[in-house]
Amino acid sequence: MSVLSEVLAANEVYSASFGDKANLPMPPKRRFAILTCMDARLDPAKFAGLAEGDAHVIRNAGGRASDDAIRSLVISYKLLGTREWFVIHHTDCGMETFTNEIIRNLLANSLETAKFDGQNWHDVGRGPGSRAGEYMEFLTINNLEQSVIDDVERIRSHPLVPNNIAIYGFIYDVKNGRLIEVPEANRIGRATT
Ligand SMILES: [Zn+2]
Repeated sequence: MSVLSEVLAANEVYSASFGDKANLPMPPKRRFAILTCMDARLDPAKFAGLAEGDAHVIRNAGGRASDDAIRSLVISYKLLGTREWFVIHHTDCGMETFTNEIIRNLLANSLETAKFDGQNWHDVGRGPGSRAGEYMEFLTINNLEQSVIDDVERIRSHPLVPNNIAIYGFIYDVKNGRLIEVPEANRIGRATT
């Protein structure tokens, strides 16, 4: 059942031909960062052409500009020299399928994995659940374009983010692998000196 042995076997193969990557410096060579969703269908190294050492990739549910994502971006430029940031949300994101209230109710019912019928989430666990979800902000998505705009705006207006960093907003299409520009987000994220 566990993937543990598969992962360790894959790692053996990877490390066997590690080669020159041993000498990579810590700062990202191409001086940029990507904030995107954890969705398993997205592989930033492939869709954005990254090799080891090229860029920072910060991922969370939705690719949202949470306090923790901004913490990483601040470190990314202040200590490691990135100059351009991409905020990339995507079509068919799971974060569009629920609200804070929905996931809080599911969690209050049980801590087992819920089921999605294509429309609604149903809790099928026996419980007990926990009400601790009441204190968690899940940063769900109501409108994809707006969520990209909101996150670029949140990063742009953060007091620890300098104006000379360019922030780009895109939506990744899970049906064809393309990045679709969100012009309003790019306008807000434009670098000024
Ligand atoms: Zn997603």
